[in-house]
Amino acid sequence: MNITNNATLLPHNTFGIDVRAAKLMIVEPGDAIPRLDEPFVVVGEGSDMVFTRDYNGTVVVLSHTDCVEVMPDGLRLKVWGGMVMDKLVEWSLANGFFGLENLSAIPGTVGAAAVQNVGAYGAEAKDTIDTVETVDLVTGECRTYSNTECRFGYRSSRFKQSEGHELITYVTFRLSRTYTPNLSYKALTDLPHETAMQIRQSITDMRWSKLPRPEEHGSAGSFFKNPVVDEETYCRLKKAHPDMPDAHPMSASSSGQPTYKLSAGWLIDRAGWKGRNMGRVGVWHQNALVLYNLGGCTGSEVNALAVAIQTDIRQKFGITLTPEAIIV
Ligand SMILES: Cc1cc2nc3c(=O)[nH]c(=O)nc-3n(C[C@H](O)[C@H](O)[C@H](O)COP(=O)(O)OP(=O)(O)OC[C@H]3O[C@@H](n4cnc5c(N)ncnc54)[C@H](O)[C@@H]3O)c2cc1C
Repeated sequence: MNITNNATLLPHNTFGIDVRAAKLMIVEPGDAIPRLDEPFVVVGEGSDMVFTRDYNGTVVVLSHTDCVEVMPDGLRLKVWGGMVMDKLVEWSLANGFFGLENLSAIPGTVGAAAVQNVGAYGAEAKDTIDTVETVDLVTGECRTYSNTECRFGYRSSRFKQSEGHELITYVTFRLSRTYTPNLSYKALTDLPHETAMQIRQSITDMRWSKLPRPEEHGSAGSFFKNPVVDEETYCRLKKAHPDMPDAHPMSASSSGQPTYKLSAGWLIDRAGWKGRNMGRVGVWHQNALVLYNLGGCTGSEVNALAVAIQTDIRQKFGITLTPEAIIV
């Protein structure tokens, strides 16, 4: 284990924000994990986080060591929570384990993939997660959660809803030894997908044609969640903006009424923000949902642009956008 005081978090967030942590603790597989006093926060690759100020506590990072164990049944892989998710996808395909290929090129670590239930191109992490192992950083208690106990939802899980005391040390995936293409994302049917490596390449190419590459422009991916609205709101907006993308009724809300998921990207684009900059932060020219670092931006600048967009969308459409990225 490596502990540094007054450490820069620049290598630990993909937005490229230069703040410092009072203490940075990097944990290796096999390390005994100490109990911590609050405040602390767990950071994977920081690809869904925006740091707005120095952190006056302990930042816990699992080393990004590749660590995969094939379980005796030959179908499950037990993986270190700090391993980079895309490296796991690559490893699994190279070794004949299938099911993760549609999650290719999502930034971040294996542990965070479980926290966030990451998803893209018709797949979600929850489809293949068997169990999640944790250590409570306050009490030291170790637990193993089944898939059901993880309470996975849309980009969420019990780990996201909890106070963040639980550090995910290992995730076990249940995969298939036979490749069956998942083509539920329609555009994939027209792209090479005969082998798992081909679909991985198709997805990787498609992803980076629409998103800023982290090594070129810092970002946290989609900055806002797609808002979920009631039928009356959806119909009002559709009448006022017939070109707004159609939304299909989702499962009923607690009141029993159908709900509709709107495209936050469309709302931001329609409000004229695509390609605009404020300070050293911009709205990505090919995807209005992505805010990015023009060079040397601060978290406060990111926040200022996010608030300006939220205010404008509320005024123009009566819709409140909430950040998907975690603001620390
Ligand atoms: C360009 C770009 C594209 C993206 N595309 C997608 C996409 O298509 N689909 C998608 O779902 N997401 C996407 N994201 C978001 C991001 O990749 C995911 O949310 C990812 O899971 C974050 O991983 P991370 O390791 O960087 O986690 P971080 O951002 O560091 O942390 C995210 C959350 O998980 C917690 N956490 C991290 N590791 C652990 C752990 N080991 N134990 C307990 N808690 C932990 C943190 O405390 C925090 O609350 C994208 C991001 C970028 C920058």
